[in-house]
Amino acid sequence: FLRKDRIPHIWCPGCGIGTSLNSFCRALADSGMDMDQIAIVSGIGCTGRTAGYLNLDSFHTTHGRAIPFATGLKLANPNLKVVVYSGDGDLTAIGGNHFMHAARRNMDLMVVCVNNFTYGMTGGQVAPTTPLGPTQTTMPYGNFENGFNLPFLADACGAVYVARWTVYHVRQLAKAMKEGLQKKGFVFIEVMAPCPTLYSRRNRLGDGVDQVKYYKERSQIKNGAETKDVGLTFQGDIVVGKFVDRERPTWLDSMNEHFGKVLGDKFQTYGG
Ligand code: SF4
Repeated sequence: FLRKDRIPHIWCPGCGIGTSLNSFCRALADSGMDMDQIAIVSGIGCTGRTAGYLNLDSFHTTHGRAIPFATGLKLANPNLKVVVYSGDGDLTAIGGNHFMHAARRNMDLMVVCVNNFTYGMTGGQVAPTTPLGPTQTTMPYGNFENGFNLPFLADACGAVYVARWTVYHVRQLAKAMKEGLQKKGFVFIEVMAPCPTLYSRRNRLGDGVDQVKYYKERSQIKNGAETKDVGLTFQGDIVVGKFVDRERPTWLDSMNEHFGKVLGDKFQTYGG
């Protein structure tokens, strides 16, 4: 699934993004889906490079706008499975508004957020996911803002599938991604990943190896856990698992049903 003409990649040694991509490639292979029917959209940032490395129809879009771009793509070609693959800053700061509304509408997208709790590419500024405490370039005395709990946010906005795994949990992550590819509606998968050049060092979690060790030793798998209880502080255990798996009409389903009722024979169902 990788574009050989784009190798070597630009990710730093010990970065977790490549591991997440490996799980995604496994999910693609296991899904049995037609690769011509899958498109991947990324925003800006280190994770945003992903779209350029995959041998799929891929779009590397502007900062924070991966979800609206993906929405347009999905509505223009409803037969496509559209995956958004981007980072925590791109999806939940600059693109935070789009994230909320796509989940609220139950837009049929799979959104993978590689969360390294910082702005990696631009030098380690505080992100909306940075936990309380660690120093960042824009928080030299430590972060005092509450960070987003992304599974809770996605759940509260209406996502039909919500999971969190770390790059230690490669098999569970690949399974979640496969389920996400096969699920209809707004799917959200958070992948905790080290950014060893920036965040981990400042948080005294050590290098990438140390941080994955932390994921291994402190993760508690709690499938079905209430998302409000799965917050993250890096001072204790990390709760991972599949938290939400429910059914709800997608935006297209609702639109077709509504206009079918209002307009009757004058309306032609759009998409699937
Ligand atoms: Fe990965 Fe951080 Fe390097 Fe970006 S800056 S490639 S997130 S390790």
